[in-house]
Amino acid sequence: MKELIRPNILALEPYSTARDEYKGELGIMLDANENPYENGINRYPQTSLRRSVISKLAASKGVAVEKLFLGNGSDEAIDLCYRVFCRPGVDNAVMIAPSYGMYSVCASVNDVECRKVQLNEDFSLPVDALLAASDANSKLLFICSPNNPTGNAYPVEEIEGLIQKFPGIVVVDEAYIDFSSRPSLVPLTEKYDRLIVLQTLSKAHGMAGLRMGLAIADAEIIRYFDMVRYPYNVGSDTLAVADGLLPDDVTAQIEELRSERAKLAEDLNGLKCVRKVYPSDANFILAVFDNPREAYNVMIAEKIIVRDRSTVKGCEGSLRITVGTPDENVRLMEVLKRYDA
Ligand SMILES: *Cc1c(COP(=O)(O)O)cnc(C)c1O
Repeated sequence: MKELIRPNILALEPYSTARDEYKGELGIMLDANENPYENGINRYPQTSLRRSVISKLAASKGVAVEKLFLGNGSDEAIDLCYRVFCRPGVDNAVMIAPSYGMYSVCASVNDVECRKVQLNEDFSLPVDALLAASDANSKLLFICSPNNPTGNAYPVEEIEGLIQKFPGIVVVDEAYIDFSSRPSLVPLTEKYDRLIVLQTLSKAHGMAGLRMGLAIADAEIIRYFDMVRYPYNVGSDTLAVADGLLPDDVTAQIEELRSERAKLAEDLNGLKCVRKVYPSDANFILAVFDNPREAYNVMIAEKIIVRDRSTVKGCEGSLRITVGTPDENVRLMEVLKRYDA
């Protein structure tokens, strides 16, 4: 593990905050240069509140608290992967394509070469090509499962095979795992110390506005993430809201969204203007339209906004449609059926 971490990070003396050094909550707090007049947010976030959220999340994921990193969205964890493991201008990251855009944006920001490997035509994992694209300086391999925007999840055995053969850290982004029929890879973090699993509260858990995401990995990786992150990366309001909402019960909503997804897939399949509907393990459907731009504009005119992926290599002609409430999905289909007639 140590040889995968950037030398400057290995040598890092982390910043120690006032709240790290004195963890109490009561008393006359003259240690952090805050405004002393209470308004609910005049104090820096309490370490105890952060700990409380982490322990609730860790319990719900079935992992030890030392294995869980709490970030400002999982986007922060993606960026930290680069900052902790990749030497700018030297190391590289391997990733599937098409996939979530932040892997390559963060690579560019950190001056890390990004090696994109096109998925097979049926969106299955190009296992051999991913390994062929890696070398001794390949520090990260990003696999998004279920993948955005293709919607499919990958067999655990295939990802496990990659973990065994890839020389660096394998990052599995499970932003949509709650909608999937395939299991999470979180239990595999017990077996492999080079596996990082990313999850988020933004999608199934209904808290995208909070900006909270997590990384689950070997405790040593989490220790480096915590050394490198901004001292107060998650604000006190965010922590307080999350602490009150967790463990949140979104099981019924997820069930409904999964059944709406099946219905929507069937309805889209029945349209003449739709060439293909890809199977989905996520809360969105990727569908290929005869004239995606026209269909997109028809929906826009009715104030229905979907994601145009029609020019993305590998998903030519497609629109990505998030599964909405039953009413929203009915409205979407009304508009598309009228266009189709
Ligand atoms: C939406 C999304 C995220 C972003 O998560 P945040 O926690 O909101 O930053 C991460 N990965 C994938 C694949 C996503 O689609």
